[in-house]
Amino acid sequence: MAYYTSCGAAGEVTGSCHLLEIGKIKILIDCGMFQGKEEKLNFDEFPFDPKQINYLIVTHAHLDHIGRIPLLVKKGFKGKIISTRATYELAVLMLKNAGGILEQKKEVLYTSKDVEPALKLFGTFIEADEKLKLTDDIKVLFKNAGHILGAVSVKIKFTDKGEKKSVIFSGDIGQDQRIITAPIQSWNKANYVFVESTYGASEHCDISLSIESFKEQILKTLQQGGTVVIPSFALERTQEILFLLKQLSCNGDLHNIPVYLDAPLAINVTKTFLNHPTLFSYQVQKEILNGENPFDFKELVETYSKESSMQINSTKGAKIIIAGSGMCEGGRVGYHLQRYLSEKRNLILFVGYQVSGTLGRKIANNDKKIKIAGNEVQINAKVSHVDGLSAHADQNNILQWINSIKDLYCIYLIHGDQPQLDTLKSQVKNKLKKKVHIVKIGEQIYL
Ligand SMILES: [Zn+2]
Repeated sequence: MAYYTSCGAAGEVTGSCHLLEIGKIKILIDCGMFQGKEEKLNFDEFPFDPKQINYLIVTHAHLDHIGRIPLLVKKGFKGKIISTRATYELAVLMLKNAGGILEQKKEVLYTSKDVEPALKLFGTFIEADEKLKLTDDIKVLFKNAGHILGAVSVKIKFTDKGEKKSVIFSGDIGQDQRIITAPIQSWNKANYVFVESTYGASEHCDISLSIESFKEQILKTLQQGGTVVIPSFALERTQEILFLLKQLSCNGDLHNIPVYLDAPLAINVTKTFLNHPTLFSYQVQKEILNGENPFDFKELVETYSKESSMQINSTKGAKIIIAGSGMCEGGRVGYHLQRYLSEKRNLILFVGYQVSGTLGRKIANNDKKIKIAGNEVQINAKVSHVDGLSAHADQNNILQWINSIKDLYCIYLIHGDQPQLDTLKSQVKNKLKKKVHIVKIGEQIYL
């Protein structure tokens, strides 16, 4: 008998966690953190006994897919963690950083001390296009998800009472055109698929137009002597931004104007990216083979220490500051916003989705006054948002990805807000003419 149980990311986009029971073997796919308005759910008991789980398969290193692993281990999980090598190296950085942040909170989910034992359970590595045999009847296969470095979608093949079956978990899947990551791979066959629906009702802007707009807005601000503040996510988005800024540098468009990478986590993540040259797009791989660092250029200044970070705000003239966090909740971007938001010639350039209720969303909504660390700040700077750099597939990409899979009995929609799920469901029904179901939290499905 094989059962699926939803333990997170059902009717919402965070807390990815899925239990697959095949006979006596219990496999968890991701163990992510609930974020934003669902944050409180992290403190609920797991709807299974962590001691009974044999394997945890991790699709990628975003916190909404790995953030509760230290908690899982604290509650008794002793099984193997299966991932790509890149996902493991990025998870080390992301979880250590998360532990440091969480231990400062009033209600502590886990601390840095809980992270080490969790990291020790990693070490079973497979890469895209490789296969791992868990038992005589259960095999795991990975394919590139085109989402972030090391991200994969997972296929589990198993035999149930003599019948061969297979199920795919998409993880987060990317657009077919990404800036630095190797392209998404499709699967040709499976009986069931659990697919993310983050942008199930949306169509992204064309990526080349987004890149053009990103560069134009930056150059215009620099020509006016302004400062560009880019609140950026440490994992993948910052490296994409560096790659694009390097193109401006190589064209001579930056004119030696400094670009500050003011985010210690992003600095470490960028170093880790360079350990995995084969996981990049063809263009980036070519640069690396030519001995180039695709994320470094002469104007780039990495400010690791707090002191060097503080000094940025006393430097005069045009500059670019890339700082975390991506939604302006914590990190160093707060004091840069306090310093630069009030001047008309500056630009605050958002390059990622801003969740409702965050400081980033308030600024992006063009609120004229906001509070940062208790101080009221008047917004006179230009505020802009570049769409189209998303690491998630839009509706068309999701439908194409599903459509390549033959022999499907049913498509299960997960990891999306209700309007996105509802729209995607009707599109799958109407365009692909396939059986489709929106998964609810706690739901158990017989496969
Ligand atoms: Zn993700």
